[in-house]
Amino acid sequence: MSGKLVLVTGVTGFIAGQVANAFLAAGYRVRGTTRGAKAKLLNETIKVPGLEFVQVDDIATDDLTEALKDVYAVIHVASPLPGRTSVDDTLNSAVSGTLNILQSTVKAGIEKMVITSSFGSVMDPSLVPGFGGITFTGADWGVVSREEAEKKAEDPYYVYFASKILAERAIWDFAKEHPQLDIATVLPGFVFGPYADHFPLPTASQLGTNGMIYGLITGGSPPQPPPFVVDVRDVAKTHVLALNVPRKPIGEKRYISNGGNLTWREAVAHLNKVRPEIKTATPESFGDLPGPASTLDTTRTTEDLNFGEWIKPEDTIVAAADALIALQKTW
Ligand code: NDP
Repeated sequence: MSGKLVLVTGVTGFIAGQVANAFLAAGYRVRGTTRGAKAKLLNETIKVPGLEFVQVDDIATDDLTEALKDVYAVIHVASPLPGRTSVDDTLNSAVSGTLNILQSTVKAGIEKMVITSSFGSVMDPSLVPGFGGITFTGADWGVVSREEAEKKAEDPYYVYFASKILAERAIWDFAKEHPQLDIATVLPGFVFGPYADHFPLPTASQLGTNGMIYGLITGGSPPQPPPFVVDVRDVAKTHVLALNVPRKPIGEKRYISNGGNLTWREAVAHLNKVRPEIKTATPESFGDLPGPASTLDTTRTTEDLNFGEWIKPEDTIVAAADALIALQKTW
């Protein structure tokens, strides 16, 4: 294959696998980073034209020179999810990992990057569990310091959202000092949906955000997070389209990626209708919302990226449920 080569970090993760496939489908070649000895094994077993794997054990500290050789653009997705590791590791991986890859990208003479941020970086982390009826846009910013995040060590969600705010701040500060870099960030809502073709499937302990849907389809009633729902395939599409937006003033290419709002109660009611064989808790067993749900405004993304239709949250939940039922049979 002769397409331009992009480096996708954390490629065996839920989102990054779909990002890799979306770039391949758009005619790019993809080099994906993985941790440990997986890269060698994946190179031997996954034979997809244009796809290769490279070992990067820690995005925050590894020398990325070899991984970045001949790369046209860097798509930085890897970052720890809430509660997966210590507070220090979460903040270090997110912030130092981002800085390490920014510095290495500049050193390699690469000018284009797309970086996965989060809806959490547009709001105060203490608002995240809340329902304030606020509409957030890509121009909004959460404010938090590393010290505040360290003091809230007992709250993995606070620490995680703080890590995404601090990482995104570091990106745009770096961009001001390196105007040759053309950066876009993608800010997804909660991401659900099918697993990427060709990539290894997760084990029961690696479900990530789809684990919430697994909770629903196995009769649980998990706590209601902000009901922002986006399909993993639309998040991948946002990354591909964001790469090709012409240069804009620094900080303006912040693209919220979200299909809409759907509460667990609504999700379960929809599943009961279209997948009656799935035994969920009753919609009534989910309590009332603590307040009016906030919303994520995707106008900038839809316009700048000429995005087209977003996959409906109801369809995303069904796709995730179907994928999880198929996955369960492999365990
Ligand atoms: P996953 O946990 O499935 O993927 C994360 C990937 O990052 C994994 O491949 C992991 O490797 C890798 N990784 C983590 N830390 C490091 C490190 N220090 N060095 C190298 N690789 C590392 O999560 P998602 O796919 O859900 O999330 C991907 C990105 O999307 C993250 O940046 C996350 O913050 C963001 N995001 C996710 C949302 C969601 O709802 N899922 C919502 C908004 C943003 P390994 O598998 O070896 O652990």
